[in-house]
Amino acid sequence: MDTAGILDLESRYLMTTYGRPGPALVRGQGAYAWDADGKEYLDFIAGLGVLALGHCHPAVVEAVCRQAGRMMHCSNLFHIESQAVLARELAEATGVSRAFFCNSGAEANEAAIKLARKYGGGAPALRAGAPAGRRYRVISALNSFHGRTLATLAATGQTAHQAGFEPMPEGFDHVPFNDLAALEAAVGPETCAVLLEPVQGEGGINPADPDYLAGVRRLCDRLGLILIFDEVQCGLGRTGKLLAAEHYGVRPDIVTLSKALGGGFPIGAALAAEKVAATFQPGDHASTFGGNPVACEAALAVLGVLRDGLVEHAARLGAYFRRGLEELAGRRRQVVQVRGLGLMLAAELDRPGQDVVDACANRGLLINCTARRVLRFLPPLIVGEEEVDRALSVLDEVLA
Ligand SMILES: *Cc1c(COP(=O)(O)O)cnc(C)c1O
Repeated sequence: MDTAGILDLESRYLMTTYGRPGPALVRGQGAYAWDADGKEYLDFIAGLGVLALGHCHPAVVEAVCRQAGRMMHCSNLFHIESQAVLARELAEATGVSRAFFCNSGAEANEAAIKLARKYGGGAPALRAGAPAGRRYRVISALNSFHGRTLATLAATGQTAHQAGFEPMPEGFDHVPFNDLAALEAAVGPETCAVLLEPVQGEGGINPADPDYLAGVRRLCDRLGLILIFDEVQCGLGRTGKLLAAEHYGVRPDIVTLSKALGGGFPIGAALAAEKVAATFQPGDHASTFGGNPVACEAALAVLGVLRDGLVEHAARLGAYFRRGLEELAGRRRQVVQVRGLGLMLAAELDRPGQDVVDACANRGLLINCTARRVLRFLPPLIVGEEEVDRALSVLDEVLA
């Protein structure tokens, strides 16, 4: 089917949840993708960070095909080897010891929120003099993004996404990002957890200030709060470290992962420290497809490639790309700021960015615009200097 045929079917049969100006991609290889009419694109959005190893990485393709031919699915009524092995690999790689597997970022955050609430229900009172009642409130940041299910939407600090779906589930408070005093002031006797993205993604690629997360860690320790990092977008090598939290020298009590974890195959995970994880008892939480053997084999393949030097490569290419973007910002006045960490980068414009995104796509470069004026770059971590140069030159032409 050509692009026109696909668009016609979509317009008649799909719910209109996505405003998608982009092409209909039908095939990918590494950092490149092709649309239904055969046009080639350099893919610098990589499935919004999902395709960390690029399209169709042979290790992921092999793992998925092998496991699909062996056992496509196994209920969590039974023991699953690849789930246990993946949990061990993640614990060893992140230092956060126990895993619950699910299928998406929102589900990983749902698991984290449920775990924090259950823990808060039984943990000792927050501070001397505080009522001994249940602690269930979660504080998150303005401009954050945690998912589209009702609880994760309530945690998301952007009222625009919530409009029309009220009432939101109760128990979520929001504070300005990178403001430790505001966070401390928002903590009440019913607060059980703080939920933050170390680098806000959808909110416009906003990294935490250097000292902020360590301050949050100390505050959580002092007040007995659980610290949850949502690393669904910034985790797994994206920022040039396996977890973005490593840039800040901070270890969370719970960390959520998803996008890049399966290299394109859907999987999510909530990892928790031993004492927190121990709160979940049989029957407390579950997912039919969570930890599916094909998904786990895909994730094991991804972790193997990440371990083989890809995280360091991402750090090096991130620095290279950033230098190029900064040079470009010096030439093109519309760019007001370049920011980000590793290969999670952004160029903020002084005007809406969708026209730039469309013009780039016309010239064969896929990027995305978030927070209206922020061009977001999430190239696959396997990207090379030549591809970065090519993306920069397209962007330069478009901004000229
Ligand atoms: C994408 C994203 C989510 C939601 O993930 P889904 O798989 O779409 O549910 C949650 N948190 C962050 C930081 C994300 O970038």
